[in-house]
Amino acid sequence: MISRLLTLLFLSSPSLIVTAQDYRWQQRVEYAMDVRLDVVAHKVTGTQRLVYYNNSQDTLTKVYYHLFFNAFQPGSMMDVRSRNISDPDRRVMDRISKLKDDEIGYQHILALKQDGKEVGYKVDQTILEVVLAKPLLPRTKTVFDMKFEAQVPLQIRRSGRDNREGIAYSMTQWYPKMAEYDFQGWHADQYVAREFHGVWGDFDVRISIDRKFVIGGTGKLQNPDKVGHGYENAGTTVKQPEGELLWHFIAKDVIDFAWAADPGYTHDRVQVPGGPELHFFYQKNERTSDWIKLQSAVIKTFQYLNQHFGRYPFDTYSIIQGGDGAMEYPMCTLILGEGQLSGLVAAVSHEVAHSWYQMALASNESLHAWMDEGFADFARDEFLASAFGGENPHQSSYQRYFNFVSSGSQEPASQHADHFNTNRAYAAASYGVGAVFLEQLKYLIGEAPFYEGMMRYYNTWKMHHPEPNDFLRVMEKVSGLQLHWYYRYWINTTKHIDYGIGEIIERDGSTMVTLQCVGEFPMPVDFLVTYKDGTAELFYITTDELMGRKPVEDSTIKRTDLDAWPWVYPTYTLTIRHPSREIEDLEIDPRQRMADVNRKNNKVIMADLHTAFKDPTR
Ligand SMILES: [Zn+2]
Repeated sequence: MISRLLTLLFLSSPSLIVTAQDYRWQQRVEYAMDVRLDVVAHKVTGTQRLVYYNNSQDTLTKVYYHLFFNAFQPGSMMDVRSRNISDPDRRVMDRISKLKDDEIGYQHILALKQDGKEVGYKVDQTILEVVLAKPLLPRTKTVFDMKFEAQVPLQIRRSGRDNREGIAYSMTQWYPKMAEYDFQGWHADQYVAREFHGVWGDFDVRISIDRKFVIGGTGKLQNPDKVGHGYENAGTTVKQPEGELLWHFIAKDVIDFAWAADPGYTHDRVQVPGGPELHFFYQKNERTSDWIKLQSAVIKTFQYLNQHFGRYPFDTYSIIQGGDGAMEYPMCTLILGEGQLSGLVAAVSHEVAHSWYQMALASNESLHAWMDEGFADFARDEFLASAFGGENPHQSSYQRYFNFVSSGSQEPASQHADHFNTNRAYAAASYGVGAVFLEQLKYLIGEAPFYEGMMRYYNTWKMHHPEPNDFLRVMEKVSGLQLHWYYRYWINTTKHIDYGIGEIIERDGSTMVTLQCVGEFPMPVDFLVTYKDGTAELFYITTDELMGRKPVEDSTIKRTDLDAWPWVYPTYTLTIRHPSREIEDLEIDPRQRMADVNRKNNKVIMADLHTAFKDPTR
């Protein structure tokens, strides 16, 4: 009866089909902005109408906006942090403290109403706190109408004007942006250094600017035949108006809106077969000569990522020569334009990978930077290896992790991105630790379930804010294995993996090998025995924590499954049913996917063993 009843329930209730939305509510925003950029005074003035949906079960009496430009003022938290951290970002250093009044950034609120009523607010550096005129009840919406004025700072980091490559405007973090409120409450962090978290929603943005300027950014241009500048449909004659040009962009299902403007941009368009239209914006000169060659590499990046990690969710993407370094935004990236082609390709493919790991799977970057930076590096390195060859795509990520461990400054990757003691620790813990997390996960659950899981993770959680547990649960379901222990050890602690080969003895024609867990981090062990006749045998010792075994990964090698190694046991002895003279060598994790901090004790070549075997029967 029960099974009958369950069947009926499943048939009668379509809501039983589980989506990410069923697991967790999320707030929603709909921005309509009409702004003008004065290219002489470097000021943005305009209006912002924001429809804000409170999908939580909480009544909100306040909301918070980010005013990122305010960070670029002497004495700001970003300035003070940069002048006190032991390894300041060379792009920031003490540069903020030296900005003059006409070089600083600011965002001033000129008027703010909620549903037509004035609201009280106060500004604390980069955070605007708004006391609502009327409490916002659960599952209701409200409308904020704002007038604001902003001064675009001289380029320091990410946003700003007149950067060192001569790009006029990098307009990122440029508008008053609603902070995210989620199951953990408000995420209204002061802008100190890095990493963002945004509310999902739609943007309708109108920008008026001197008509000489070319704009690239988030969203799809709605009036290409009026704007021209390379956006117009083939065969259209564009008649631009005198004076300023109005650009109208719409972006749906995004967490932010970024743009850049320069009068000297060349604008190229190329189509990814079966994918988005790509737009390239760059100043054409001898230092950016590789931007044509870059285009085919970006096409390949999209094709590869579409195939392996899920379909890119938008129909355009723009690669824009911008302010400094490289930074990801929805449907675009801003990236330095000069330098070697290989560096450009590596940087752009990382940023493109963020379209999966941030712009679709929008984890909270401040809390889980490893989930966007590490995953983007991982996907980028898999693409680069497939396109350009290379033995181990993730070698540099492992090396970064090992250097981190030996530096003595390791902190857990679960640290908030702004609160690491050093910039180096942040970088290693997010990029290196995050990429190794995935490659090591492949070792834990096997290659086929891993890639199936990456695809399922994307399709389940795209356009949401996945948490670490959401990712783990998908991986547990595809593999049938238990994984939260791995996450706790790898992300929340600085415990290290170190397995070694201990005593080897021979008894009754068999060889007994004792493996040692030297580190404090349990793992399953792939133990490869190569025989003198050229054959090999993989002994697979799972850990009890995994509660199961990964499938055979390489069917060309015989695999022998042994009993699980309970994590409390420091040693594990296995028997090889061959005398030692028939064995060429023994090796723990020959593919080196386990981030074992001491690999010197992982391999024994039998011929190197000088000590005679003890026969315990004598
Ligand atoms: Zn990144």
